[in-house]
Amino acid sequence: MPFKELQLIKPLLKAIAEQNYDAPTPVQEQTIPLVLAKKDVITTAQTGTGKTAAFALPILQMLFHKQDAGKKGKKVKALIVSPTRELAIQIYESFKVYGKYTNLRTTVVYGGTSIEPQKDVLNKGVDIVVATPGRLLDLHKQDVINLDFIETLVLDEADLMLDMGFIDDVRKIERLCPVEKQILLFSATMPMKVVQLANTILKEPETVNATPSSSAAQNVEQSLFYVHKQHKMELCLFLLRNNIEGNIIIFRRTKMGIAKLEKMLKGNGYKVDSIHGDKTQNDREKALDNFKDGKINILIATDVAARGIDIDNLDAVINFDIPNISETYVHRIGRTGRAGNSGKSFSFCSADEKPYIKGIQQLLNTVIPVEENHPYVLDPKAKREVHKTPGKSKNKPGRKSEASKKNKKRWY
Ligand code: AMP
Repeated sequence: MPFKELQLIKPLLKAIAEQNYDAPTPVQEQTIPLVLAKKDVITTAQTGTGKTAAFALPILQMLFHKQDAGKKGKKVKALIVSPTRELAIQIYESFKVYGKYTNLRTTVVYGGTSIEPQKDVLNKGVDIVVATPGRLLDLHKQDVINLDFIETLVLDEADLMLDMGFIDDVRKIERLCPVEKQILLFSATMPMKVVQLANTILKEPETVNATPSSSAAQNVEQSLFYVHKQHKMELCLFLLRNNIEGNIIIFRRTKMGIAKLEKMLKGNGYKVDSIHGDKTQNDREKALDNFKDGKINILIATDVAARGIDIDNLDAVINFDIPNISETYVHRIGRTGRAGNSGKSFSFCSADEKPYIKGIQQLLNTVIPVEENHPYVLDPKAKREVHKTPGKSKNKPGRKSEASKKNKKRWY
C-alpha cells in the first residue's frame, strides 16, 4: 500500500518521500487511519516498527489546518509523553523531519538540563510538545505550559514508563489535560499494569498489534554460542576479529560488566563507548552522537539505557549476557535488520543462562541455531556452576569435628 492511500496531505507526503520510505510499515498502516478518525488507540509495537511516524504523521495532519496562528497565539495541542530523554529527543526529531513542510512548531522538554531555555521556547509558542514526565510537571507548576488545549495525548513506551515508576505522574498529566481528548497509548509489551492504566483513561480504544516475535525473527540471522562465563570476553574478541563488522551494540546486564568489557575492548584497539544509568546525560548523548557519526562503531549498553533509542544501520547485536526476560531479547535483536535490511545477532549463553534461552525460543516459536565453530565451545550438557569451597571435609556434612566441639565456648 502506498502512503497516498492513507489519505495523508501533500506536505507530509513530500517529507516522507524525502526519507525514501517506500510504503507504510504494518503498524503505520493500521494505526494512522484510526488516529485520523479521532479514535483512542492502543498500539503494541516495539522500536523499529515505525511507531513514531504512526502517531507523528496523523497528529501533524490533524493540526495542519490550525497551524497559522501567529507564534504568540499558538496553543499546545498535542503532547507526547516519553519515559527517557533520549527517546523524547528522537521523537522530537521525527516531528521536525515529518513536519518540515508545515508551519507547526514542536519542542522537546526533559530533565537533567537547564530549564530556562525550555521556558523561552515554550513562551514563544509551540503546537506540539514532547516531554519526559517530571520536567513537564515542573514546567506546568511554574505556569510555563498550559495543557488546557491539548487535543491529542500520546503515552509512548507505556510499559517502560510504568517500570520506571512514572505511573502517578502519567495519571496527573492526563488529568491536567481536558477531559475531551484523544489518547494514544504505545507500548512494546502489554503487562497487566499497562492494561489497567489503559482501561482507566482511554475511551473505547481500538487496538493495533504489531507482534514482535515474527518481525524480530524475519530479518535477523540469529546465532547462539554456548560458552563458559569466563570465556565470554575471549569469544567476543574472537568474533570481532573474525566474524562481525560494522556498527555493533553489545548488551550487558550490569554497569560493572560494561566497564570491564569496555576497558578490554579499548585495550585491544576497538573504538568503543558505553551508555548506562550512571552516566550523565551529556556523556550518554556524546556516546550516541559518536556512534551515529561513525567515530566509534561499538556501543555497549544496558537495556534500560538503550531502550527506545533509534540507531540506524546496525549490523549486529551481541547479547553478551542473555536477558532473563524473553521480550527483552526480541527488543535487542529488533535493533538490527530494520526496515528490510538484514542483520545478525550473536548470543553468548553460559550454563546458568540456559533457562532464559528456553523461554526466548518459546516466545519466538523457533530454535536459535547453535554455532560451534569457535574455540570456546562449552559442553552443551554443562550444568550451572555451583561454588564449592576447595578441599573436602573429612567430617559428615552438618557435623562439627570433635576438636571444634571441645573448643566451643558456651555463652552461659
Ligand atoms: P521507530 O519504530 O519509530 O523508532 O522507527 C524506526 C526507524 O524506521 C526510523 O529510523 C524511521 O526513520 C524508519 N521508518 C519509519 N517508517 C518507515 C517506513 N515507512 N519505511 C521505512 N523506514 C521507516
